[in-house]
Amino acid sequence: MCKRHLQPTAVGVVYTRPLAPILKMNFETIYSRKNQLFPEQLDIRDGSFVQDSTGFLSQNLVDIWNAAEEKSESSAEGYFIWAMYCLLHRQAKKAFRKGDFTLKISDLTKEDIRKEYEKVLKKAEPKRRIKSCCRMMASQFNKKCEIHDSIYDCPDVILDRNEQGSQFRILIHDGGTSGISIKFCPWCGKKTKTGANNV
Ligand SMILES: [Zn+2]
Ligand SMILES: [Zn+2]
Repeated sequence: MCKRHLQPTAVGVVYTRPLAPILKMNFETIYSRKNQLFPEQLDIRDGSFVQDSTGFLSQNLVDIWNAAEEKSESSAEGYFIWAMYCLLHRQAKKAFRKGDFTLKISDLTKEDIRKEYEKVLKKAEPKRRIKSCCRMMASQFNKKCEIHDSIYDCPDVILDRNEQGSQFRILIHDGGTSGISIKFCPWCGKKTKTGANNV
């Protein structure tokens, strides 16, 4: 089993804050702090593939992510750092496979970073509105996995939901994104369809 899930970090916690002030923050402003938050070069020699090569973990990369979070000054920066981590993690996985153990931050294009940042913000937005029926349900959607880029690869994530939080599925980890719809929370038994409004 995947044991590398973090408890909600600064990134997880900011999901509950209102999104408006985050969106108002200029991407250029955050982007200009990139070199203060991340070192230019990153050694991923310590990396390894886990779980039949679907996952990749480098403690160095995780340390750099944590160090960046400690320097983070706003929730927007928290999202930015998470976006950078996602990009770097994907790049690290590819590079490592080719036997290349040095990542350069300058290899990431500004456009790639902007796209990933917007993706992270978009993902965060619906989470702000959806209230979970119980702690266990909430924990499913607050997890951050260091190993897997996608929840569909991570054996510890067993549910997904639509953007409105009105439909939930139990995931079938068959390499794709299939799942079986459920109408009741598997932990507390409340109706999932009304869960968003009932809490
Ligand atoms: Zn995982
Ligand atoms: Zn529940």
